[in-house]
Amino acid sequence: MRGTVDTARPWQIEVSHSCVGSGQCTAAAPGHFRLVDGHSVPVAQNVAADDAVMGAAELCPVGAITVRDRETGRVFILGEN
Ligand code: SF4
Repeated sequence: MRGTVDTARPWQIEVSHSCVGSGQCTAAAPGHFRLVDGHSVPVAQNVAADDAVMGAAELCPVGAITVRDRETGRVFILGEN
């Protein structure tokens, strides 16, 4: 579920264990996600705000990606565990 997004501060990206390695996130945001042993891993956990990250999270078929404000912890898009 996506909330109001704040692009003024850095974001934190997490990929949960529910990732099935489908690759949509790596295709949508190759600078932010890579596949390692069939599981998506953020290239960097802490990143500058980037629409490509939100797009990747929204494309994930199992909702495995969480994006939050790194400083406040506020969740912009909540992934499944
Ligand atoms: S789109 Fe979702 S399921 Fe597919 S590799 Fe990325 S995190 Fe994993």
